[in-house]
Amino acid sequence: MLEFDAAIVDSRQADGKWHTVLDRSAFYPTSGGQLHDTGTLNRVEVIEVIETDSGDVCHVTGREVGAVGDNIRGTVNAARRLGNHQKHTAQHILSQAFIKLAQAETVSVHLGEEYASVELSAGELSDKQLAEVETLSNQIIVDNIPVEVMFVSSDQAASMPLRKVPDRTGKIRVIRIGDLDWSACGGTHCRQTAEVSVIKLIGTEKIRGHLSVRFLAGRQALDDYRRRFDLTQALSHQLTCHINDIVGKFDKLSAENKDQRKQLAELQAKLLPMRAQELAQQIKQYGKTKLVFHVEEAGDVQMAAKLAREVVAHTEGVAVLLVGGRMVIAAHEAGGVKAGALAKELAAKTSLKGGGSDNQAQLGGANIKQADEYRRIIEELLGYE
Ligand SMILES: [Zn+2]
Repeated sequence: MLEFDAAIVDSRQADGKWHTVLDRSAFYPTSGGQLHDTGTLNRVEVIEVIETDSGDVCHVTGREVGAVGDNIRGTVNAARRLGNHQKHTAQHILSQAFIKLAQAETVSVHLGEEYASVELSAGELSDKQLAEVETLSNQIIVDNIPVEVMFVSSDQAASMPLRKVPDRTGKIRVIRIGDLDWSACGGTHCRQTAEVSVIKLIGTEKIRGHLSVRFLAGRQALDDYRRRFDLTQALSHQLTCHINDIVGKFDKLSAENKDQRKQLAELQAKLLPMRAQELAQQIKQYGKTKLVFHVEEAGDVQMAAKLAREVVAHTEGVAVLLVGGRMVIAAHEAGGVKAGALAKELAAKTSLKGGGSDNQAQLGGANIKQADEYRRIIEELLGYE
């Protein structure tokens, strides 16, 4: 039932929202691992449905639906309801398939927005077992077995081959999928297994010594397939290869990239003495100290640190290299300035953070646009005359 008429029996404000109870409702409240329905009451959007302690179905809305005694029209969101049917029926099918093929009982279920999962009594299952369960489950969908809903007494329920015997007494709702599965269950389900359309296992996780198996069903699985299809299409287009070759192509590109980085590092190492000499020529005398201050938009910080050390080996002074957001400082023993101490003083006067030893230091949080200001402060600190 997706459309219904009812009368309001209770209406009150709570936590800035409105809670409405009706004399009858087709809205499913969150319970038994299944998500609540959404929809409208007199065109007012129902954002949540909860079962109260007294067993009432409480409809949560952003504004008032009406006064006690008012007649209302309820409409349940059909797409979300179908999604819940599919997830829930898929769970019954999977729980039975795990018993048949892996002797694994379902101990708890989760039928969420993003994915659903069953927690199994088993601690581990092989990929082969999981694949067999997935195949059998999809065969059960193809077999299009009717899903029956029955209300029976607890005595009658005791004589049925129920997957789990319920604790409750009185009238019990039983969901029967042909001769495959009998379950005491209060959730909403498909009328035929074919309505589930597809079940895809998407991962496992160990919790409390149990294996939790995540799965997608129906529309959720189709949406996921679309995303993955678009992704592999885009990758295959960009890598100009067949989707079967994407992983191979990626491995090849990765290896090439690694090789090129190695070559680049070797080249930079070869060029280092030459660059150091070039920079050493920019030297300026501040007080008793010789300073080389150099700025680069981007680059490798380790390489910059090497370069700074090489520069001070030539100048016997201080070298400050600003590379992107980092600053490296190198100081020669003969220069009378300690790199770590200079970094500390600089950090106290700017937003830079870091430190180092007497010979070298590094600071992070630099802004290349403030290079002139950094230079001015360093000049002051070195005793500009
Ligand atoms: Zn169920």
